[in-house]
Amino acid sequence: MKINVVESVLKANDAVARENRRRMESAGVLALNLMSAPGSGKTALLEKTIPALAPQRSAVLVGDLQTTRDAERLSGLAAEVTQINTGRGCHLSATEVSDGLDSLRLEHIDFLFIENVGNMVCPAAHDLGEHRRVVLLSVAEGDDKVAKYPTLFRPADVVLLTKIDLAEVLGYSTRRVYDDLAQVNSRAPVIELSARSGEGLEAWLAWLREQRQAVGKTV
Ligand code: MG
Ligand code: ZN
Repeated sequence: MKINVVESVLKANDAVARENRRRMESAGVLALNLMSAPGSGKTALLEKTIPALAPQRSAVLVGDLQTTRDAERLSGLAAEVTQINTGRGCHLSATEVSDGLDSLRLEHIDFLFIENVGNMVCPAAHDLGEHRRVVLLSVAEGDDKVAKYPTLFRPADVVLLTKIDLAEVLGYSTRRVYDDLAQVNSRAPVIELSARSGEGLEAWLAWLREQRQAVGKTV
């Protein structure tokens, strides 16, 4: 019985997610779900990404348990920012994103970045209505996380290896990350990136623009 309850919750989430996707497509918005551990650099990446995408306009839905700190960091950069405080919730749900969409003028937006709660486990199980899943893995977290958290990396559409400027000083093995990824997801490109040095940013921006064109038949 317990399994049935969990399944029905996920089914209800998926129905709301489908409606979110339909809403964004009718407004011409490409939605990206950013997932990673806390501190991998999601907000720092958005601080660099959003101004670089101009004149295309970006909005952000930021999920955190508490505080509006990330929304404040992004408020001067994005066309619109909404902070979603999940309280004790360790992931965003499609319903929370639906409420977040109500706060945005979707027809004024080209890209919607959904910054999920920092967590490597359950965000991957919840469709939010995004078009693409972006998974960040920072060099500071160690090189063993792909094998330890395969459910996060398996459905990723792109993997961003962030804080790559620290790789040398930490003796980081990107080789291990690539080997592990080959086991769980051979489809997603990997972009080595540093928001601080700017390395990899052009490749990331090119990927974003490509996705918008690829989905653009409907978006
Ligand atoms: Mg953040
Ligand atoms: Zn959770």
